Amino acid sequence: MPHNRDTFRDLLDQLPQPVLVTAAAQPFPVLWANDAGRALMDGHAALAELPEAEALLALAEDAAAAPAEAKEAVRGRLQGPGSDRRRWLDWTAQATRWDDGPAVRLVAVDVTRDMEAQRAERLLREALDSIPDALVLFDTDDTVLFFNKAYRDFFWYIPPLEQMRGRPFDDVVRLSLTPPRVVTDPLARTDPQAYIEKRRRRLHNPSPEPFELFTAEGRWHLVRERRTPEGRFIGIRSDITDRKRVEERLSQLVKELAESNRELEQFAYVASHDLQEPLRMITSYLQLLERRYRGRIDPTADEFIRHAVDGAARMQRLIQDLLEYSRIGRSGRPMAPVAMAAVLRQALTNLRLTVEENNATVVVPPDGDLPEVLGDPGELVRLFQNLLGNALKYRHPERPPVVTVSVAAEGGHHWRFSIADNGIGIDAAHFDRIFLIFQRLHGREHYSGTGIGLAIAKKIVDRHGGRIRVESEPGRGSTFHVVLAAADPLPPGIG
Ligand code: ADP
Repeated sequence: MPHNRDTFRDLLDQLPQPVLVTAAAQPFPVLWANDAGRALMDGHAALAELPEAEALLALAEDAAAAPAEAKEAVRGRLQGPGSDRRRWLDWTAQATRWDDGPAVRLVAVDVTRDMEAQRAERLLREALDSIPDALVLFDTDDTVLFFNKAYRDFFWYIPPLEQMRGRPFDDVVRLSLTPPRVVTDPLARTDPQAYIEKRRRRLHNPSPEPFELFTAEGRWHLVRERRTPEGRFIGIRSDITDRKRVEERLSQLVKELAESNRELEQFAYVASHDLQEPLRMITSYLQLLERRYRGRIDPTADEFIRHAVDGAARMQRLIQDLLEYSRIGRSGRPMAPVAMAAVLRQALTNLRLTVEENNATVVVPPDGDLPEVLGDPGELVRLFQNLLGNALKYRHPERPPVVTVSVAAEGGHHWRFSIADNGIGIDAAHFDRIFLIFQRLHGREHYSGTGIGLAIAKKIVDRHGGRIRVESEPGRGSTFHVVLAAADPLPPGIG
């Protein structure tokens, strides 16, 4: 027998669970303990000596109060004992006898891991409940594993998670079909079972791309779904109603703007087109008057007629410019690759006389250095002709014009063309104004023109999705920069 008893003690010492036998009264001195029990007592001789062991003592007292024959065990999940608040033990205390005296047998199972897992899950749930996106998880067997608070806010008719956990997916769909809930899919009304099956197929083959849908409650949802490698389904829904409203409003405004722009252009076109005819008549009769009656009435009449002819001619130029301005973009030709070498060559051919008259030097990069851009060839010639023409026209009176065209990469998809002159320059205060229609900085008596050249240039650049700006130092010269889309993406390393 003694031999057997030793074997049992050895066995109990192997157990990771603390086992203690104490006397059945305060201070509950320890009569016997296995290794784990001794470690728990940490050198203390009685339960009452353990710091912060009130709950454990109460458990032992409850057990001691029960008659030993009843064998009724008292249980409790306690933190500690002692000051080790991280440790959680499930205690079983039972009255017994030891050396013929009343005693209490205490056995503890460490449940710290369980408690930590529960705490981590609680934290995770709190976190998932606090996000505005609805989250739902179905297990590999299509039963509910989890959904968060936002999910229930969206699907308010679905009972709490505690009641839904483990319920099949079909039940969830069925709940959404019970009146007065309306599912927008007509199949839900005509053939509910087919609808449930359709939804289940989606559960097994989630959409690889996020998609938007309009709910029966009149809201927009963005849905993302996927299956985890273990075969669980994750669905996430975000309410994007506000964003959609803003987007809708924006696209409505863009449409209205485009429409009013179109009307305005149509108006400018028709007005300038129809004004030409009566003006032509006025001009020709004025010219007739001038030819026939010059020197026949009196010198004052001659002067009046001359002013009238001048005014009519100027009006004709303005109307022609306006017509040209309103014609930009009317061709509706799609943008295509255009060789800038050809554009510059054509623009300079058109300006050949001006270049010669001004004894000007125009430096253009060699053809091989000029790239292709996306654009309309006719409009691009017009654009560069206007800029080069201005560079020659607004020359400095004391030196022959030198105009330099250069090109550089801008980002990976654009080219920047710069036209630099050594002319009179522009005050920075006027940098924005010069691109407006009919805005000029000089009187006609100094420089001819109507003030439309740069407005046309800007309209062409805008239509090409590009940018135009000027840099200048009055008295030294100006540089106009034009950024246009490259026909091909630029090779890496450039830009
Ligand atoms: P216009 O030449 O018919 O007056 P633009 O629209 O081409 O009309 O130019 C507007 C104004 O910008 C011009 O009146 C001129 O004062 C100024 N400007 C344009 N280009 C230059 C330039 N290269 N150097 C100096 N001033 C310029």
